[in-house]
Amino acid sequence: MNNNHYDVIIVGTGAGGATLAYQLAPSGKKILVLERGEFLPREKANWNPQQVLQASIYRNAENWSDKHGKLINTNAHYYVGGNTKFYGGALFRFREKDFEQVTHYDGVSPEWILKYRDLAPYYTIAEKLYEVHGQRGLDPTEPEQEAYPFPAITHEPHIQAIYEGLKDENFHPFYLPLSIKLNQSNPLQSACIRCDTCDGFPCFLNAKADADINCMRPAMKHSNVTLITRAKVTHLHTNASGKEVTGVNVEVAGEPRYYSANIIVLACGAVNSAILLLKSANHQHPNGLANSSGLVGRNYMAHKFGVVLALSTQANPTVFQKTIGFNDFYWGEKDFPYPMGSVQMLGNIHKERVLANASFIPCFIAQKIANHCVPWLLITEDLPDSKNRVYLKNGKIRLDYTSNNNKAFNRLIKRWVEVLKSIKHRYKSKQLSIYHAEKMSIKEVGHQCGTCKFGEDPKTSVLDINCRTHDIDNLYVVDSSFFPSSTAINPSLTIMANALRVGEHLLTRLT
Ligand SMILES: Cc1cc2nc3c(=O)[nH]c(=O)nc-3n(C[C@H](O)[C@H](O)[C@H](O)COP(=O)(O)OP(=O)(O)OC[C@H]3O[C@@H](n4cnc5c(N)ncnc54)[C@H](O)[C@@H]3O)c2cc1C
Ligand code: SF4
Repeated sequence: MNNNHYDVIIVGTGAGGATLAYQLAPSGKKILVLERGEFLPREKANWNPQQVLQASIYRNAENWSDKHGKLINTNAHYYVGGNTKFYGGALFRFREKDFEQVTHYDGVSPEWILKYRDLAPYYTIAEKLYEVHGQRGLDPTEPEQEAYPFPAITHEPHIQAIYEGLKDENFHPFYLPLSIKLNQSNPLQSACIRCDTCDGFPCFLNAKADADINCMRPAMKHSNVTLITRAKVTHLHTNASGKEVTGVNVEVAGEPRYYSANIIVLACGAVNSAILLLKSANHQHPNGLANSSGLVGRNYMAHKFGVVLALSTQANPTVFQKTIGFNDFYWGEKDFPYPMGSVQMLGNIHKERVLANASFIPCFIAQKIANHCVPWLLITEDLPDSKNRVYLKNGKIRLDYTSNNNKAFNRLIKRWVEVLKSIKHRYKSKQLSIYHAEKMSIKEVGHQCGTCKFGEDPKTSVLDINCRTHDIDNLYVVDSSFFPSSTAINPSLTIMANALRVGEHLLTRLT
């Protein structure tokens, strides 16, 4: 018997890979999970803003380059749990209309071959699995569903005043759906202590419901599941006909190894899964594996992110403030009938974050900004464009990206600042108020997706409805690569729900 042969190999342990491993683990099938990163160390530095935000001690992705060849130090992270170790845990369902063709000011967001109703049962399971806290019925764009598994995370007083102010102006703010293990009715029993270093930080207490804690570690309790860390997959092999994938080359702590499997699933994140397919080109697949459509690596999307800092002379004493969501402009407004996007609170701003973005600012001013600001994250849909793509150039990941949908994005920023101005009296901010808006750069790749879109036609898509490659029968991709559109909602819950859906298909295939 070949000890290096498995029923399934899963590459990557982020939202897609770990959720799939969790789903397949009880099957008893021999499963190998290969993760290029290590377990993120539990150490005081996890919560140290200087170490995390300025020294960037956990940034371990290689430099990529932009379309001009300029190096970019992205915020991709390679650890067990992938980028969910650092996520803010805002776990949303996409809207029903997100699955349909939608006309934007700047183009068209394509229809999905899957509808909301197809994914809804898996969203329900994923919300339980990732312990989502929220309250239905407040967000006007949210599909009707049963209650969240856990009650909403409440607002602290300063944020509550803003929430009330928004309601007074006839808007519809809502509690952000969050995957943190906070027991509000019994704080002594709560894993989460509601601290100020959550969004963008790993959790020292392992109290964030991430892919490592909630899926990978439980999956490993099954003796049929093997996880190898520091295992970077470098090449996929096919059989002579090119119709089946047979095995993978791996560098395990720098040592070359080979593992084979009946089924191979990529979950390396949308950029790295596409890169792995491209660099595994062979005689039968000269342009990269599963790339007969020429679309592998194309249609890269990552959301248009804006940050608005509302600064005033009134201090913001909030400890955990990422609790408000706002979707009133999601589909546009009266005189702009095009989607604009979503708004949510950002995690706390520390002086180190201010300094990391503007090192010229004196430290005491950075501290003042941190103490007095209320930060917001604005997300506008990135539209698919085949010219926006990832590929290898001189052995490096290259990201050719040109921004689109700017009119809607600019309008969202402008309108959000107007909204904040209209409610400033509600949070005692009549005094001097400044609204600083900034657009994030392509270094922010946290919401990457679209590089192997799914569809019915092998000529115009890479994956089929089960996220199996059209070209290779036993090769699947279960990260955000399959998205045909990016929507304007945080992606992780959709990646998790889809991994559960694909997992169900694989369980049937494996029996
Ligand atoms: C700071 C930050 C905040 C975020 N906040 C939110 C949020 O609030 N809500 C939300 O929905 N989303 C959020 N996101 C996005 C979220 O983290 C991602 O959508 C999600 O992690 C993507 O899951 P994935 O499985 O596609 O990829 P990833 O999580 O990136 O996982 C890919 C895994 O594959 C591994 N890998 C890559 N290449 C190889 C290889 N060749 N061999 C072996 N292993 C490999 C990587 O090490 C990694 O562990 C945030 C992201 C960041 C960075
Ligand atoms: S808020 Fe809770 S989940 Fe987030 S880092 Fe702090 S303790 Fe962990």
